[in-house]
Amino acid sequence: DNDQPRKPDWIRVKAPTSKGYSETREIMRTHKLTTVCEEAGCPNVGECWSQGHATMMIMGEICTRGCTFCNVATGRPEALDVFEPGRVADAVKKLGLNHVVITSVDRDDVEDGGAEHFAMTIRAIRKQAPGTTIEILTPDFLKCDPSVLEVVVAAKPDVFNHNLETVPGLYPSVRPGARYFHSLRLLQRVKELDPAMFTKSGIMVGLGERAEEVRQVMDDMRAADVDFLTIGQYLQPTPKHHRVDRFVTPDEFAGYEKSAYGKGFLMVSATPLTRSSYHAGDDFARLRAA
Ligand code: SF4
Ligand code: SF4
Repeated sequence: DNDQPRKPDWIRVKAPTSKGYSETREIMRTHKLTTVCEEAGCPNVGECWSQGHATMMIMGEICTRGCTFCNVATGRPEALDVFEPGRVADAVKKLGLNHVVITSVDRDDVEDGGAEHFAMTIRAIRKQAPGTTIEILTPDFLKCDPSVLEVVVAAKPDVFNHNLETVPGLYPSVRPGARYFHSLRLLQRVKELDPAMFTKSGIMVGLGERAEEVRQVMDDMRAADVDFLTIGQYLQPTPKHHRVDRFVTPDEFAGYEKSAYGKGFLMVSATPLTRSSYHAGDDFARLRAA
């Protein structure tokens, strides 16, 4: 696609070759688990996996939504696998993770959106790997009864993450089927249900947003008491996906990080290669030690 801006040299990705990488891959295969690291073609996979840090995707590989930035297949998913929570917990234990991120496709086909499945997965990990801190990155449960959120929060993940993904003005082209204010309200509701739980959200930049819009999203998140923020450069997974409008410079990222801390976020990661789950474990450990 020649109307795309050229990748700048600060978007550098190391080839995944280490031993940790192949071990993680093997454990995921034998446990029939899917990782976002691979599905999303994440540029940090070599680094994260060699450190034994991965993001697992539960509830299948087919999503009922079709976000234009996302490489996950859209369609009709298979039934939920009741044995999956156990396999996830077992893999977390075998990998000896300090911090695990659990995310999922969107399941608009299931009445509770997969809330109970998330809760079961959290409980299974707690049982098998009590020393591992758990971060969940959830869908928006848009079509569900609002009470389903209580089921997930009651399972007590350490960090509840739900990404706003982009500024509200770009929702129709980037995140069709989602609603900005619904997602914001979900984050606020988590905090109301359990004020001790850390909440987290993130956006991608380079999709065509303006800097003022990004700062407005930060204000909206803080108004919803969101604790942690991630901002990263959007990269187009295939030429069929949403185009990259521009590459935001490292200086602009640094500016976003500074504004975000000024607005009261407890932890901010804003760099070109920041992903929702990038270094999540290190950050969390640092915060708990503080
Ligand atoms: Fe996986 Fe997240 Fe690391 Fe990317 S940043 S490789 S998705 S753990
Ligand atoms: Fe991808 Fe999530 Fe959107 Fe599904 S809901 S298409 S998994 S970003």
